Amino acid sequence: MGAESVWSVDPRTGEPRGDRRVAEASGPVAVDAAVRAAHAALPALADRARRAALLRAAAERLHAAAPELVAAADAETALGDVRLTGELARTVFQLRYFADLVDRAAEPGGFLDIRRDSADPGLTPPRPDLYRVKLPLGVVGVFAASNFPFAFSVPGGDTASALAAGCPVVVKAHPDHPETSERMAAALREAAREVGLPEGTIGLVHGFESGPELVRHPLLAGVGFTGSPRGGRALFDLAAARPRPIPFHGELGSLNPVLVTEAALAGAGAGAGTSAAEELAHGLVGSFTLGMGQFCTKPGLVLVPAGAAGDAFEKAVADAAAQARTGVLLDARMREAFLGGFARRAGLADVQTVAPAGPAPTPETPLAVRPGVLSVPAASALRGSHEALLEECFGPATVLVRYADPAEADAVLSRLDGCLTATLHTPAADPDAAALLAVLARFAGRVLFGGWPTGVAVADAMHHGGPYPASTSTATSVGATAVERWLRPVSFQTVPEELLPR
Ligand code: NAP
Repeated sequence: MGAESVWSVDPRTGEPRGDRRVAEASGPVAVDAAVRAAHAALPALADRARRAALLRAAAERLHAAAPELVAAADAETALGDVRLTGELARTVFQLRYFADLVDRAAEPGGFLDIRRDSADPGLTPPRPDLYRVKLPLGVVGVFAASNFPFAFSVPGGDTASALAAGCPVVVKAHPDHPETSERMAAALREAAREVGLPEGTIGLVHGFESGPELVRHPLLAGVGFTGSPRGGRALFDLAAARPRPIPFHGELGSLNPVLVTEAALAGAGAGAGTSAAEELAHGLVGSFTLGMGQFCTKPGLVLVPAGAAGDAFEKAVADAAAQARTGVLLDARMREAFLGGFARRAGLADVQTVAPAGPAPTPETPLAVRPGVLSVPAASALRGSHEALLEECFGPATVLVRYADPAEADAVLSRLDGCLTATLHTPAADPDAAALLAVLARFAGRVLFGGWPTGVAVADAMHHGGPYPASTSTATSVGATAVERWLRPVSFQTVPEELLPR
């Protein structure tokens, strides 16, 4: 029997895109070949100048191919030209950013994190001559995310940070964008050839079975994953159950709560003729509907005071949500999970529908949906039967939880799983502000004062991760320190200077 075909599907209709059989599903032989080719590239990647050149050449090629890449990604994800052009620019920036980090790797503060201690026999215990440096882990497996066909896919943050560390990569393509994945892998391989690195430095595999096969491969040294709690946990457990377990850096989902105080809703807004409540409502709707809510940082739960100020906010959210654009989700499975998840939550006792999510078909986009908002008293949300309200509903939906007093808000926050972000809206002069920020930092990896959590800057001080299930480790998948996931410290003791690794 031949290998299973991988097809490109139009998410607007759910139909395969013509006769576009993009690739074959990768069986054990293909996965083994990709991992072995990547492993063979390890010695060549030890050359830091060449690594930096690879990242820059890859950035150039992706930038040059932007029109074709954006067209392919839009055909496969329906995320739209504007969003995809921005995401590709971010991906190109990210590759150059990691190239700059490679240039500075051996400097103080660089990611090689070199530390030296000279010998001192007079100490108790005596100290030998020590040189500590970080070395690449080996071949890294990357599971591309559905919702970021560029920035968390073949050339995304996991790949860029692994290559920067000196680790070759084998990517498991996401089935929502196989053609885009193939095009980008080709661009990365051409970049490798251009700078004199083996093409096997970047491998690509397709098909469900290739994922576990990759994680189990004895030459694999680490995994980066972005996706669902269910899939991520299955692969995390697989990585731990290997005869030789390997690190698994997974980002599995996040509710991203927002806490709005009574004081934040009081008075006029910054714009002419608008109230603070209306401005916050517009900001919230813009954030939870961005990219049709398919962001790991989407605000999925908003704690709002009960009473008149909260009522005005809820009304403004209803008005803004009624104006929100309808759109298509990434695939039929996600559409079903979104519509079913919203309906199940809406059917719980005491839950009110502020804006109804549902199908919104047009002739060109028969699978389009409209965003939705629910509201529930905090006391009800805390009931065991209402647990789903405190869990992520992937897609354009959010839940307003109305709290009677700060203790109720705290009780809800205490029940939440680990999150990527948590946001506080209150005036800076609020005497409780610092204490509230400390509460949010208990369970979130990024704490925002004002603003909205969608949008994650690629920067040295960024942390994109959080307690489980936001991530399966304490590491970040965005920003400079993402590279640390793929490095391993080694101390060299009494090794002559000329024999130390450079
Ligand atoms: P997913 O179902 O977890 O799939 C991600 C990747 O893992 C795919 O390549 C998938 O392979 C593979 N996979 C899934 N389950 C597996 C298993 N049991 N064993 C081996 N491999 C497995 O995630 P998704 O398709 O991107 O989206 C589904 C849900 O994930 C969304 O509804 C959302 O809740 C969540 N999500 C979260 C984030 C985040 O940032 N945390 C991002 C995107 C999505 P195949 O697809 O080939 O089966």
